[in-house]
Amino acid sequence: MYQSDVYEYLKGVEGEHLFICENDKEAIEVEDVVNFLGVGAFRLPDLRVEEGEDLRPYREEIQQFLWVLSQFYEAKGSKVLIAPFHTLFLPFPKPELFEKVEIAFGEVFSVSQMKEKLYLWGYHFTDMVTQKGEVSFRGDIIDIFPIQASTPYRISLFDEEVESISPYRVDTQKRVSDELESLLLPPAFLALNQEEYEALKRRCEVSAYESFVKDIDALGLWHLGELAQEGTTLAPAKRLGEWRDALEEYYSFATPRLDKSFFLNLSTLPEAKHYRDVVVADMNKLISAHQDKEITIIAKNQTLVRSSTLDSFEGLHFCYQEGVVNIMGENVLILSLNKRQKSKRVKRPSLVLDALKVGDYVVHENHGVGIFKGIEKREVLGATSEFVVIHYQNEDALLIPVTSLESIERYVAEGGALPVLDRMGKASFKKLKAKVKEKLFAIASQIINLSAQRHLHKGILLQTPPEHFSFLHRAGFTHTPDQKRAIEEVLSDLSSGEMMDRLLSADVGFGKTEVAMNAMFVAVKSGYQAMMIAPTTLLSAQHFKSMQERFAKEEIRLAKLDRFCTAKQKRETLEGLKEGRIDLVVGTHALLKAAFKNLALVVIDEEHKFGVKQKEALKEMSVNVHLLSMSATPIPRSLNLALSEVKKFSEILTPPMARQGVRTFVKQYDDKVIKEAILRELRRGGQVFYVFNSIAGIEEKQEVLKHLLPTLRMTVLHSKISAKETEEEMLKFEKGEYDLLLSTSIVESGIHMPHANTMIVDGADRFGMADLHQLRGRVGRGTKEGYCYFMVESKEQLSENAKRRLLALESHSELGSGAVLAFHDLEIRGGGNIIGEAQSGHIKQIGYGLYLRMLEDAILELRGKSKLTSSATDMKLAIDAYLSESVIFEDRLRLELYRRLAHCENVAEVYEIEEEMVDRFGTLDRTTRQYLDVMVMKVLATQQEIVKISSYGQRVFIEFAHSEKEREVLQADSKDDDDIIAVTMQYLKKK
Ligand code: ADP
Repeated sequence: MYQSDVYEYLKGVEGEHLFICENDKEAIEVEDVVNFLGVGAFRLPDLRVEEGEDLRPYREEIQQFLWVLSQFYEAKGSKVLIAPFHTLFLPFPKPELFEKVEIAFGEVFSVSQMKEKLYLWGYHFTDMVTQKGEVSFRGDIIDIFPIQASTPYRISLFDEEVESISPYRVDTQKRVSDELESLLLPPAFLALNQEEYEALKRRCEVSAYESFVKDIDALGLWHLGELAQEGTTLAPAKRLGEWRDALEEYYSFATPRLDKSFFLNLSTLPEAKHYRDVVVADMNKLISAHQDKEITIIAKNQTLVRSSTLDSFEGLHFCYQEGVVNIMGENVLILSLNKRQKSKRVKRPSLVLDALKVGDYVVHENHGVGIFKGIEKREVLGATSEFVVIHYQNEDALLIPVTSLESIERYVAEGGALPVLDRMGKASFKKLKAKVKEKLFAIASQIINLSAQRHLHKGILLQTPPEHFSFLHRAGFTHTPDQKRAIEEVLSDLSSGEMMDRLLSADVGFGKTEVAMNAMFVAVKSGYQAMMIAPTTLLSAQHFKSMQERFAKEEIRLAKLDRFCTAKQKRETLEGLKEGRIDLVVGTHALLKAAFKNLALVVIDEEHKFGVKQKEALKEMSVNVHLLSMSATPIPRSLNLALSEVKKFSEILTPPMARQGVRTFVKQYDDKVIKEAILRELRRGGQVFYVFNSIAGIEEKQEVLKHLLPTLRMTVLHSKISAKETEEEMLKFEKGEYDLLLSTSIVESGIHMPHANTMIVDGADRFGMADLHQLRGRVGRGTKEGYCYFMVESKEQLSENAKRRLLALESHSELGSGAVLAFHDLEIRGGGNIIGEAQSGHIKQIGYGLYLRMLEDAILELRGKSKLTSSATDMKLAIDAYLSESVIFEDRLRLELYRRLAHCENVAEVYEIEEEMVDRFGTLDRTTRQYLDVMVMKVLATQQEIVKISSYGQRVFIEFAHSEKEREVLQADSKDDDDIIAVTMQYLKKK
């Protein structure tokens, strides 16, 4: 009895109301009823924060809170504020603090004043706007993401007049076509004036509350109220106690399920007398039985009605809106076709920010490993262009023209290993490369031979049986689109007449095993045997459990083979497999010894984790059967292309359910915080990962934790503990026999541990961004929100940079460059995994990026294909050509564009980037346009196998790769830049 209570109470009542609910779920139910009644509903988010807590990790919810509150204040007529009760602990700023400004087409305003205002209003100034509350000013372009909007907006100015306002996409940073008449800008925090802002800032800086950074973002809301007492003009905020007093202003009712001890004088919403909630099992039956009533069906649109199983009844009323309300009264029946919406799945960002930062290690294809020092402008032969500066040993500097940026890449190696700098001008790197190349040819030919060997065998024909359809539907959930595609691809391989060799890559928990089980089902139902092998007992145990559940009703004889089976069980299983009494088996390397009666499919999970000999045995075992490999690391796109005829790939990029996400806190180390974080997780019945990256100190740490929480059940793991023991302990942890796993890094990566949802990283400042991001990704994978604590020893000793990086992780954004970086690193590691036995020494010397590129070349060469990228033309025209700082101010953005332009393979790609640049930065100036011309010429010249284009005075020289072709000399009308470009462009386009 709940929605009906709200319905009965609100029907016909006017005025302002406050409904206090227990949580989000209840609040949404109330909101739906209020909306249905046509009354203004204003639902606040559920903000479970404690007095004085650092609010930075709650940024999104705080923005939502402030926006909803401002809308509530502004609304006229009957209105209801719906608040989960924890949220009432926050100070509620007064209406005066929610001023807004509107920017309209054709309007003239002062940019500097606007800048100032947005700053005081809490907008963050960044060079690329991707999140709510961010703004960027670039000459006559303003990008801004208002907190209430679903996309950011780009405002172009002509001088100080608004020329256009249009939304743009975060992932591509490109404008969407439709223009707006005007745009409303509310404060990102509050509409403070200079005096108020300064006062609040000072307050926060001396705050007694614990917070990593003491600023308005972290603590501003908590100190709002005090300012009034200091006699500033700032309107005070309402606090919890005042709410109680203020409640008289409203007809206020708590819902019956709420613990009311906090709000003693609150009345409970009276139970409805004339209405009740209904649970709809069969809508048609319900309607038939209540034909005497006025019946209303709520559906979000007509399509939903048409596609539903609703019969056609006379006299139904349809109400087309969102929300779910199911209520019955004496004369009315209200039913909903809408379903409760699950929150959206997050897709990986497509925009890759190759954030190369000053101080990063890079690899140049000819000179080896150096340190990136930034971009520099230089004049050469009277023309200005830009160069990337790389330092080698002894700080010898190498200048690389930005036109050839494709020759360097960021250095990545396993575990963030640091490389040794090469020496410039020495042949040692060349020699090293030659050695690596030789090795790579061996590896590439192995890959290709193996595939050729597989092709010798005719594929076992496995037609998808009709009962597969119902097996698919018995999953108990809807497959994600990616999953569906992967299943289709696998089944079509099985019935193709060729032997399948497919790699399925997806993050842990994204549903790979489900795909594999579909393949195994088909194999077994076609009368064959199938096996699945995993590198650890833990993984194999997890798979076995999944299979037992999924195949429970399928009449499939399933067995397990690993270290935990008794000798007798092992013997029986092995015999069963040989004689065909077992259809399906899952296990560890113990399976390598098994003989089968008629094996048709081998599924290998996390192949790269097997030992060398085991890998050999796996290859032998799977050469004449269908093979599906699964991996939790993504595959680099370039390698995917190169290998496409050898191996097929499927990817699952979305999680099956909306993840709750991970709330990240950065804190200075403090026993109190640790204890609280652990208890918080234990209270909700979960488990904790505690990462402490030093074997030497880990036992001491264990003592500290024991002392803090004497009853804590804890296990400790690090590299000195044997693999066997590690595995056993992990199994116990997974079964819930421990509360906390203290380890040097997360020991097992392929494992789904939905109960462990708090991660504490002790000494977070000693990890790289990508590592932190990956560690954080271990929690928050189930239906529970994850908590991640990055603890630093002393914030005073952190560099500004390190501090900023950690804080960036705190405002948890899927699009953060940390995420992209981590993905990039993972991808490169994923590539390493495909290769098989890692040449870890070599990879460490030249970095994964170059290593993979060389492998790609080797594969293509062995397959008789020419390289995808023949070496690019060296552009040495004496003209001013660079991306000008007056157009694109930030080095980071220019560098990114230089990189992308350097990687273009056809003219259309260059023009596309040009279009994007005009869109993002406004009119391009002469040198920038000339740079784009140079890039067009470079692409054309590369295609024509020209090695170098240079100019001297009026003459342009074209040199070819094949020496038999003569060098050509062009004569420009003058030595002006535009004439040089014109004559060269004309020559290249004619070809
Ligand atoms: P992986 O092998 O990639 O780690 P699994 O196939 O084991 O992932 O799936 C992880 C969990 O998610 C399992 O409990 C599985 O039943 C569940 N699952 C898989 N696909 C879906 C889906 N489409 N919808 C809901 N749950 C799913």
